[in-house]
Amino acid sequence: MSLALRCTAAFLLLGCARAVQTNAGPAAGPRTRAERTSYLETSRYADVISFLDSLRGRPELTFGSIGKTNEGRDIPYVIASRPRVATAAEARALSRPILYVQGNIHAGEVEGKEALLAILRDLTSSSRPNALDSVVLIAVPIYNADGNERFGHQEQNRGSQNGPEMVGVRANAQNLDLNRDYIKAEAPETRASLAMFNTWDPDVFVDLHTTDGSYHGYALTYAAPLNPAAPLGMWTRDSIMPLLRQRMQSRHGFPTFDYGDFIDDDTLSKGWATFDSRPRFGTNYYGLRGRIGILSEAYSHDPFERRVKSTYAFVREILSLAAEKSAGIRKKFTVPTQIPIRSSMIPAPDSIGVIAEVMDRTGDSTRTQAGVPKGRRRTGRYLTVKMPVMDRFRPTLSASVPVRYVIPESDTQVVRVLRHHGITVGQASQALPNTQLMSEAYVFDVDSTIVAPRPFQGHREIRLTGRWRRDTRRIPAGSFIVSTSQPLGLLAVYMLEPQSDDGLVTWNYFDRELKPGGIYPVFKTGGVPPTP
Ligand SMILES: [Zn+2]
Repeated sequence: MSLALRCTAAFLLLGCARAVQTNAGPAAGPRTRAERTSYLETSRYADVISFLDSLRGRPELTFGSIGKTNEGRDIPYVIASRPRVATAAEARALSRPILYVQGNIHAGEVEGKEALLAILRDLTSSSRPNALDSVVLIAVPIYNADGNERFGHQEQNRGSQNGPEMVGVRANAQNLDLNRDYIKAEAPETRASLAMFNTWDPDVFVDLHTTDGSYHGYALTYAAPLNPAAPLGMWTRDSIMPLLRQRMQSRHGFPTFDYGDFIDDDTLSKGWATFDSRPRFGTNYYGLRGRIGILSEAYSHDPFERRVKSTYAFVREILSLAAEKSAGIRKKFTVPTQIPIRSSMIPAPDSIGVIAEVMDRTGDSTRTQAGVPKGRRRTGRYLTVKMPVMDRFRPTLSASVPVRYVIPESDTQVVRVLRHHGITVGQASQALPNTQLMSEAYVFDVDSTIVAPRPFQGHREIRLTGRWRRDTRRIPAGSFIVSTSQPLGLLAVYMLEPQSDDGLVTWNYFDRELKPGGIYPVFKTGGVPPTP
């Protein structure tokens, strides 16, 4: 029904002003495009900007841009806190959790954008105490702004999603999936978000998405950092997520569960499996920075309005819980002596009941709901089936952490990307005695380079086999030096280890220098001797 028609119909009963009021949401202020259209439409870039402009002047808010997209759009951020903060130094001085919440990384998945706008409005509509008294919120509602503007029909852009009719696309304007770009950092959007991470060092990163798979019984599914090298990953999974789950149910009536899909839709008892542990995915990446990442996935087969509301409730509960669990969330870690760099998915210790929706066949080719394949029908009947839940990873290969990595002077691209990540890279000075003999150096002999058969994100990913060997090496003047005793030392190890499942070798940074029978150009010195 169009908005005008709805208003006319409502006017007969209540008067139109009252009907509009009913749609206005819980707090005073502007309404999102989703709210104004009774959840028939989602915001364009211009809608987001004008909504944010209408919040200017609210005393809790600071406005800015994290950087520009490929097509030159500013990616807006809003920082919300009481008292208001304008700089990272001011935020740190408050000694409270800083949360970075991002919507629209996949621009067809639109409820995060709408929920974040509503949250900014609602948290600043009255002076009553709320989470902004205890946390600093950095909201980035329209991260993939270029993707958002490539509006097309849902059927085209988001095949298994229940509306709205017109949405953006998954990729950015370079056709890159920004949620596979966190290590290689090729997109200007990624580099802009890394710069924000480096400046603000948020304690929690929340990435808002929509599912695109199984017919399950949850309004929203979630994941903590899945990489076993993430220092706070397990704590987040076992101490934060169960509380969020409980509160989503008891306070909002939204059932939630660990993100996943049924392994086999026809034989549910085979299990439920999460996605991937590699740090190309934002929330896993954020875990390797020693912080907390939370993936939020609203259920794509729910109506748009319910998806906005479940995402809204989830983010609000995360803000409140971060305030309560401030000490655990802000816990600092030291880089261990061994770091997992490859891993494989394993089940939780016990089988768990997972809710599935029973799907019927219609016997013809009609489409029963947007996002449901032709000839299939949702029944509204749900089964709880006990099954293995693959929600975690165990290390299959670990790296010994050296004191430092030594990178050839010619590898300037490698140094550039490390610095985008905020990793400190020094250089062996010309002024010092220009060679230093290291008796405890380790070099990696390459047995083979395995190239992925198919291109992915414009790359043919590389995997190396080989072994470490002890050697005596000089550090030539001009070499780049990465110390592991720095705040992002763990991330540096993950990116520089030659056998890492998602490091710079993977993304072709060393292709020129890699040959079977040769050596990996980066060597390491000091620390625990690597196992050969
Ligand atoms: Zn997504």
